[in-house]
Amino acid sequence: MLQPLILKPVFKERIWGGTALQKEFGYEISSELTGECWAISAHPNGPSVIENGPYAGMTLDNLWSEHPELFGSQKKEVFPLLTKILDANMDLSVQVHPDDAYAKVNENGELGKTECWYIIDCKEEADIIFGHNAQSKEELIQHINEGEWNDLLRRVKIKPGDFFNVPSGTIHALCEGTLVLETQQSSDTTYRVYDFDRRDAEGNLRDLHIEKAIEVTTVPHQNAMNSPRVEEFENAMVTTFVESEFFSVYKWDIHGKVSFSFDEQYLLFSVIKGQGSLIHNGEKYELGKGTHFIIPVGFGEFELDGECEIIVSHT
Ligand code: ZN
Repeated sequence: MLQPLILKPVFKERIWGGTALQKEFGYEISSELTGECWAISAHPNGPSVIENGPYAGMTLDNLWSEHPELFGSQKKEVFPLLTKILDANMDLSVQVHPDDAYAKVNENGELGKTECWYIIDCKEEADIIFGHNAQSKEELIQHINEGEWNDLLRRVKIKPGDFFNVPSGTIHALCEGTLVLETQQSSDTTYRVYDFDRRDAEGNLRDLHIEKAIEVTTVPHQNAMNSPRVEEFENAMVTTFVESEFFSVYKWDIHGKVSFSFDEQYLLFSVIKGQGSLIHNGEKYELGKGTHFIIPVGFGEFELDGECEIIVSHT
């Protein structure tokens, strides 16, 4: 009998990280510089482990290769998505990611990285770096070489509940005081353009990757934003943020008991607010803020009950 696959996240220390993942989500982490929670991951740099049911103890990448029936017939070589929660306690480096074609050739067959962000929370007057002002590659190179960051980089004000689609080739950075649920292609390739000349605990600058960054940056910047579509149901509201060749991402607002049925497609779930439960085949699974799970292909009917907000995605 199929069960939801509840996942144990992996945490990553970052120089820009903080304590929001402990404080907001109750995860047991010792580091006060925790930047990333790899919540639903089959990436070799930090695969999540199944917590419950017949596959307990297996990593998601092993489950993907050993039990393809859970993920349907349109199976790709690697699990295509990676869900993270990011605590930007300080600014992240200004960066850009390659597309699939470039990463395949230059990064040992890695996937490219198109990503998207749901702003869970942020400080007042928070912003992000999103796009640039160069009209040609020459202009981009000139601004980078001269360190004219204020002229080059576009800043966009953000508030909780905002959503940003960040295609590969987009120059971007999360900035100080931002808590984000990120859905991305399963890739760990980042080209750093500018790191604010920061040094780590050992006094070292982090590597920059200027040449590759210039090669992959889309010039001029293209804005890939659509307005979200909201649908009201009894006891639920579904917001569609993006439906693209890489992923579709939704927010489900649950207010009470709601029935669903999914058979054809596996879905990824991250509870970002409130709590509730999932009822399936007479079994009840508690869902708290920070619970992440996948429902496999053939899961069928289930109910969600409670007051919670869930980010749902699929390829
Ligand atoms: Zn990024």
